[in-house]
Amino acid sequence: MTKVPATWSSLNALSYAPALESASIVKLRTEYGLFINGSFDAPRTNEQFATINPATGETLTNVARAGEADVERAVQSARRAYEKTWSTMPGAQRAKYLFRIARLIQERSRELAVAESLDNGKPIRESRDIDIPLAAAHFFYYAGWADKLEHAGFGTNPQPLGVAGQIIPWNFPLLMASWKLAPALAAGNTCVLKPAETTPLTALLLAEIFQQAELPPGVVNILTGDGETGAAMVAHRGFNKIAFTGSTEVGRTIHRSLAASATPLTLELGGKGANIIFDDAPIDEAVEGIIDGIFFNQGHVCCAGSRLLVHESIHDDVVARLTRRVDQLRVGDPLDKNTDVGAINSSEQLERIKELVAAGESEGATRYSSSCELPSKGTWFAPTFFTNVSNSHRIAREEIFGPVLSILTFRTPEEAVAKANNTPYGLACGVWSEKGSRTLWVAQRLRAGVIWANSYNKFDPTSPFGGVKESGFGREGGRHGLEGYLNV
Ligand code: NAP
Ligand code: MG
Repeated sequence: MTKVPATWSSLNALSYAPALESASIVKLRTEYGLFINGSFDAPRTNEQFATINPATGETLTNVARAGEADVERAVQSARRAYEKTWSTMPGAQRAKYLFRIARLIQERSRELAVAESLDNGKPIRESRDIDIPLAAAHFFYYAGWADKLEHAGFGTNPQPLGVAGQIIPWNFPLLMASWKLAPALAAGNTCVLKPAETTPLTALLLAEIFQQAELPPGVVNILTGDGETGAAMVAHRGFNKIAFTGSTEVGRTIHRSLAASATPLTLELGGKGANIIFDDAPIDEAVEGIIDGIFFNQGHVCCAGSRLLVHESIHDDVVARLTRRVDQLRVGDPLDKNTDVGAINSSEQLERIKELVAAGESEGATRYSSSCELPSKGTWFAPTFFTNVSNSHRIAREEIFGPVLSILTFRTPEEAVAKANNTPYGLACGVWSEKGSRTLWVAQRLRAGVIWANSYNKFDPTSPFGGVKESGFGREGGRHGLEGYLNV
């Protein structure tokens, strides 16, 4: 007869056999050029940099670093494509290309998922089941809009803006590229996209997909590079739109440098989301929501539920269940299908996390970190939460962007709302309660772009996403996502 484990700790002792996804499906070249006018070529800078696997520290491949002259070439290429082909093409024709791209992403989904996990460090379970399917879904969704723009609620004959410059971060590389490209292309714009320095791979594979889909040359140009490449794009006055996703700090710089120009701007910036758990919430489900809210993608999530606001009467119970659950998270090889939490994307990000965690300890909060064993190579941080946190602590105010949760308490719904709103950010919040009336009462008073009820970190291409306050402005996703790329 099978022996039933007597305690949770004996259950934890059960080990899983490794279930590794093979990396052989990804065939990388030894170097990649810039994708301009439909083909890859060398950067005018003659400079390259390595992109590494954060789980091992090994170099995956070398990519080009674009400079000012390359930005100029990419803008010219996008301008020609805009005038000669893309903006004059019937919407139904543009839709055919977008559908084709969506299907090719699906066809190459395993390869893209492995490449994303190798370059970013995220678990294959997430890249396979979330990032890549959602990326394809965004292209499918906006393909559907391309020939129906006059029904989108932006006038009877909405026009594209022209050439869009798009700058994205490293946390969801292919998904952020899709969020930016799909609505822009559906609306008839052409694009110059810059992926983040540490995660250029899937954008380069997407460029190959554009070639496979026979997308007309110049409709999308991809410039790999660093912050200087991004700054050169923002300084170039040939763009008719700049769309940026990244930190509030860089967003502020971009906002400032475009202040005197007429270039429309969308900013999707940082967050410090509150996940609010009332005493009538289904606690085990809420604990899963807390885990999902902060440990999904190693906490490298702009809308992460990084502040837990828990009703005082259930605080001890929630913390006890959370402790047990945190200890069960499997941290390790991103290519293992059993892995829950992967590698921290870069050593710079790891240092930022460590610095804020040290501040939490020195300011008097109580730290609990999972006792999991961390791999010896690569960049890692054990899932962590802090209790005894007060609103004035840095860990309650600053975005940690890592697997670190700050737990605060409240006694009344009014106090929960006041604490949740006590932040310069306003991207997302979660509310857990059995009572719909209470959830709606709270949701109406929260200052955030997205509110999830009895769930967290749920994304869908039909649903608009974006922030208020220092989390930025403009919306991506849904019908709203077209607005930023149309002359309305
Ligand atoms: P980041 O440092 O602001 O970088 C974002 C992008 O901007 C990268 O491609 C970066 O290039 C580039 N960049 C850096 N300096 C620039 C400059 N002066 N001018 C123009 N571009 C510049 O942000 P990150 O650390 O990569 O990403 C994490 C941040 O993004 C977090 O704060 C997170 O909350 C936010 N985020 C927000 C959303 C949202 O939808 N609201 C989604 C995801 C992430 P390099 O990588 O080459 O430096
Ligand atoms: Mg990398």
